[in-house]
Amino acid sequence: MILLDGNKVSAEVREEIRIQTEAHIRLGRRKPCLAAILLGNDGASETYVAHKVKDCEAVGFTSKLIRLPDSTSEQELMNLIQNLNQDAEVDGMIVQLPLPRHIREEHIIQTILPEKDVDGFHPWNIGLMARNLPAHLPATPAGILRLLKSYQIETAGKHAVVIGRSNIVGSPISILLARNAYPGNCTVTLCHSKTQDMEAYIREADILVVAAGKKHLIQAHMIKPGAVVIDVGIHRMESPESKSGYKLTGDVNPEGLSEVCAAFTPVPGGVGPMTRAMLLENTFNAYLKHV
Ligand code: NAD
Repeated sequence: MILLDGNKVSAEVREEIRIQTEAHIRLGRRKPCLAAILLGNDGASETYVAHKVKDCEAVGFTSKLIRLPDSTSEQELMNLIQNLNQDAEVDGMIVQLPLPRHIREEHIIQTILPEKDVDGFHPWNIGLMARNLPAHLPATPAGILRLLKSYQIETAGKHAVVIGRSNIVGSPISILLARNAYPGNCTVTLCHSKTQDMEAYIREADILVVAAGKKHLIQAHMIKPGAVVIDVGIHRMESPESKSGYKLTGDVNPEGLSEVCAAFTPVPGGVGPMTRAMLLENTFNAYLKHV
């Protein structure tokens, strides 16, 4: 059984980016720069953005954290994005989701210049991705591909079952796994909340990607022996023995998993750190086109 260690692989990716960044700066170039926009005071969003800013510093990037009140209008946010689009010192930008209800997420995403859309959410990038052309790939699916590649997991001809069809995880990973590429060339089934008899598909999955956002939706006994399991879910679970009083767990119950699977991603330490590393990689790629 192989543990797909996202902490280890993401550390390698970050170190590679740090070395390359240092080399550019030594040549007298400016540092790569990520702008992060955060609206309101949602606790989880604050934590995610704080991680992203810290990750930038660790590899030698600069970052601009722009905090706005919940009451910011859609037009004000669009004006800010347009300014960042024009700013030659900004290579990439992210708008932390979810946004307050009065702002249309799709309008905001489409205001970001595709070259600076390092989250890979702009339809332009999604279109390029679907056509197997160079694009900023959404960070979580890109992180999953990097993990599969790093552990040389065979994907061609395999049946990949993806659970969840969100724009940021399920839908793009299903496209990526079906592409004529490595990792890819899978036969893909995309399951979602309206799928009937999902367990029948799960039983047939050589590669199972779970991004449903439902704690322990999948149990070891449902999984095909020898499958590769990628658990995207992140949930807090009470844990009196840990200092914080909680621990993280995924959409897959880890109990008995190692006896069934050929490989799986732990939670924490699997897909999460890979997502963070891929945002840095997208930002660095945007910088290279720009500097
Ligand atoms: P989402 O809520 O936007 O989408 C969930 C999808 O799962 C929907 O398409 C829905 O149809 C499907 N679904 C829900 N319940 C289902 C069920 N019982 N059976 C079948 N399908 C079901 O979620 P998301 O943004 O894709 O995130 C999914 C999970 O992954 C969340 O726990 C989130 O916190 C986590 N996440 C982790 C990372 C990471 O880096 N590890 C990144 C993004 C999201």
